[in-house]
Amino acid sequence: MVRDTERLQVGLYGYCEDCGRRIPEERLRFRPEATRCVDCQSRLEDLQRIT
Ligand SMILES: [Zn+2]
Repeated sequence: MVRDTERLQVGLYGYCEDCGRRIPEERLRFRPEATRCVDCQSRLEDLQRIT
């Protein structure tokens, strides 16, 4: 929760840290800790599954 506050302060909350696109509000409601959009997150999870 502290992290969310920090992100709000630097203005990054709600934006994908990979591509910089806005993360849909729906997604943030479902996963408030999300720092990536659906595309980047699933790409990341694909990579993690392989390694
Ligand atoms: Zn993204």
